[in-house]
Amino acid sequence: MNNKDIELLAKWIKESEYAVILTGAGMSTESGIPDFRSKDGLWKKVDPMKLANIRTLMEDYDTFYEFYKMRVGILSEAKPHEGYEILAKWEERGLVNSIVTQNVDDFHLLAGNKNVYRLHGSLNEFRCSMCGTKAEKKDYLERKPCHKCGGNLRPGVVLFGEGLPEDTLLTSVDEMKKADLVIVIGTSLTVFPVSQLPDITSGKKVYINREASGNSKFDLVFESSAGDVLQEIDKLL
Ligand code: ZN
Repeated sequence: MNNKDIELLAKWIKESEYAVILTGAGMSTESGIPDFRSKDGLWKKVDPMKLANIRTLMEDYDTFYEFYKMRVGILSEAKPHEGYEILAKWEERGLVNSIVTQNVDDFHLLAGNKNVYRLHGSLNEFRCSMCGTKAEKKDYLERKPCHKCGGNLRPGVVLFGEGLPEDTLLTSVDEMKKADLVIVIGTSLTVFPVSQLPDITSGKKVYINREASGNSKFDLVFESSAGDVLQEIDKLL
């Protein structure tokens, strides 16, 4: 990490009138959420793109259910790392306006951020896959059916084959338009349409990711962990 770059980003954050943060999975792997692809031998040979898919929910509920039960279990043992606390503090101090996130762990909300737009939903919320009635996490974990229609329960995450929540996406686009500084953290920016969001801003663009090469559209790039960069910058704010 380059000290000059840290100083420059701290300066930009202080000068910014409307800073928006965009976060992805890299933010949460640092919180001890293991990559579910390799967590358990049982899932090693299975493609998560197939598991986290609307078709699996509809056609193979046993597999779908077990996969998400495991993910809910992993999440309940993890908690937000210091980088999350720092972002919450920045919002409270008025240094950051909002967070747009691809993560489903709700760590930004847990850490205390208020303006959080969850593009991929939440792994802490559940509903009936047939009628949409809200359900309790406890009922999902006990594999109970919907109390209204008997349908299968599901987590409130966006599955492959489903569109992003339209309101949240539109608000996120709006936030990018308003922003004079966008800081992208821990996402490879490979999934459409989130990958396009940073292009919308006319403000400065910063990229923080462990693997940052090939992202030349940014004004400033930190190829390191989110937690480390945020802590260094926080010392200067
Ligand atoms: Zn139902």
